Amino acid sequence: MTAYLTGYTCVVCDRSFEPGALRMTCPDCGPDEGILDVNYDLNAVRAAWEKSPLAGRPLNHWRYRELLPLEDSAVRDDWSVGWTPVIDASRLAKDLGLQQLLLKDEGRNPTASFKDRASSVGVAHALQHGAGTIACASTGNAATSLAGHAALAGMPCVIFVPHTAPEPKLAQLLVFGAAVISVQGSYDQAYQLCSQACEKFGWYNRNCAINPVLVEGKKTGGLEVAEQSHTFGGVPDWVAISVGDGCTIAGIWKGLKQMHALGVIDRLPRLLGVQARGVAPIAYALEKGKMPPVDDTGATIADSINVAVPRNWRKAVNALKDADGVVVCVNDDQILEAMRISGRHGVYAEPAAAAALAGVKAAIADGIISGGQSGGGGDRVLAMVTGSGLKDTHAAIRAGGEPIKIKPSIDNLASALAGRGLTDGVS
Ligand SMILES: *Cc1c(COP(=O)(O)O)cnc(C)c1O
Repeated sequence: MTAYLTGYTCVVCDRSFEPGALRMTCPDCGPDEGILDVNYDLNAVRAAWEKSPLAGRPLNHWRYRELLPLEDSAVRDDWSVGWTPVIDASRLAKDLGLQQLLLKDEGRNPTASFKDRASSVGVAHALQHGAGTIACASTGNAATSLAGHAALAGMPCVIFVPHTAPEPKLAQLLVFGAAVISVQGSYDQAYQLCSQACEKFGWYNRNCAINPVLVEGKKTGGLEVAEQSHTFGGVPDWVAISVGDGCTIAGIWKGLKQMHALGVIDRLPRLLGVQARGVAPIAYALEKGKMPPVDDTGATIADSINVAVPRNWRKAVNALKDADGVVVCVNDDQILEAMRISGRHGVYAEPAAAAALAGVKAAIADGIISGGQSGGGGDRVLAMVTGSGLKDTHAAIRAGGEPIKIKPSIDNLASALAGRGLTDGVS
């Protein structure tokens, strides 16, 4: 609630701004670099939580209302976002030699991805400010979550997507009734066009990178991991997150830090950022402190993190440094394998979501995460599974393989199943 908001700070020059104004970026550092961070009076938040404990609140992400930049009346308890389950993949942990492996299934959000956290807060904020139309550029999930929440709010919505977006995401957009502009170019070009259009037509710009309010929605993922950690043996050693623009990892880290400052958790995890091999500018930036030369020739099956020009790289790199973090890169085969493994443990993941798990495996192989001993004993790891496998059926079929095709007879069935351990004990 805005009563707890103390203002904004530019992540580049540290200049601070008063709360109140609908400010997107720092005028000194410009609209590309001058990204703002939202600040809160955490002592006041702590007092509010003592009076009205979290434990008694609705099981959705609006339970953290004091840490959202919204008026009390703008909070939408009726939009059921967040409080996603954390699955204890104990068989998989054992296979990987980890003490514990947790999969936080963000595919259970209303439009089936983590992005619902940001879009719900963005649309609530747009409503609070009386915006007429809301727009965003997206690799897919930000768009569908925005279109879904705009539909809930009855607000017109314009979406810019690269023409490569998977069909199930496009279908969601069109059914939610958004005006969908399929840009015959890269995500970066779609992003530029959206920013120009917001300026020209006065639309509310939902793009996470420049709109500080949106990252506050993503932050609830970190607030939740912290609060839920009491149910799974405490704060994990590592939280693994796939990285595209960088807003997700930055938001989750901010949430974890706030919960640490508020005394909800007594330690912080390290962050494992996961990028796709060939599209890994954040890995470069963490090492060199600057962006690599633009190279948009890389390709990955993980469309949601196919971001050659990350808009929030500074926030992502700051979070990774602060968290003693590491970035690993994974290729398509590793991602497809992780989709299969994740599915075998009950979590249906789209490629970018499975990438986090693929990254955990890669980090164990590289000796970054302690694991690999048979029977456990290694680190405790939580992977954010950021989107549902339903988002990209084509990739899911590549991961899952073919069904067993037979003519309908019991003999055919018996011979097709022979050797699979399903018909043992039957002659
Ligand atoms: C957007 C997205 C990410 C990455 O988030 P960024 O804020 O772009 O770093 C990861 N996984 C999925 C499924 C996403 O939709």
